[in-house]
Amino acid sequence: MSTESRLRLVWVYPDLLSTYGDRGNLLILEHRAALRGLPVECIEVRSDQPMPADGDIYLLGGGEDGPQSLAAQRLAADGGLHRAVDRGAVVFAVCAGYQLLGHSFYAKGTQCRGLEMLDLHSDRGPTRAVGEIAGEIDPRLGLPPLTGFENHGGRTHLGPGAHPLARVTTGIGNDGQTEGAWNGRILGTYSHGPALARNPDLADLLLRWATGGDLAPIDDTWPDRLRRERLAAVAR
Ligand code: GLN
Repeated sequence: MSTESRLRLVWVYPDLLSTYGDRGNLLILEHRAALRGLPVECIEVRSDQPMPADGDIYLLGGGEDGPQSLAAQRLAADGGLHRAVDRGAVVFAVCAGYQLLGHSFYAKGTQCRGLEMLDLHSDRGPTRAVGEIAGEIDPRLGLPPLTGFENHGGRTHLGPGAHPLARVTTGIGNDGQTEGAWNGRILGTYSHGPALARNPDLADLLLRWATGGDLAPIDDTWPDRLRRERLAAVAR
């Protein structure tokens, strides 16, 4: 955490990367930090503003192809997100935001350069992946199954430096086999929804990475019930 012990949550380019309720991820982190008495500062950085490098958690949402390629160009030119990652900041990225963390991705039929923060690249799939997604999360992360909603045309291929976030049990995710990726404190997923409302344990993982400490438990009866309902519904 930063010097005044405030957790700085940075919502990256809400004017470009904020589809399907991804902003809810910011609200969930803010809420779950507040329930633990952690002072939080939420910083929304539009694409015409410099990216601060002293944030603790950076959130990138989904976006259509045009805004996605513009966001990647601006983040590369700005350099603030790279500086933040170099100092150990946490990054949580969804769909378009996830794809642009890799080496390359496709937008409007053109191959675009990514930010090279995760060892992966994305191309286009034969169909658009739309619908519920579920998967068993990498046991090293110690989390219950992931559930969410996906809507993307891209397919993502992981290199040896990126670990799959989950093994897909419903939906497509990266390629029909795995979903999302993580390495160090950078984590990406195809799960919209917002993902952290549906997967509060994932929100707490990001908070633990950022604070370096244990977190008091929260009564998650309702999100747990939603997870069980969705897993049962998609298993039919
Ligand atoms: N434009 C990207 C794709 O279709 C990302 C879409 C999204 O963020 N939902 O693959």
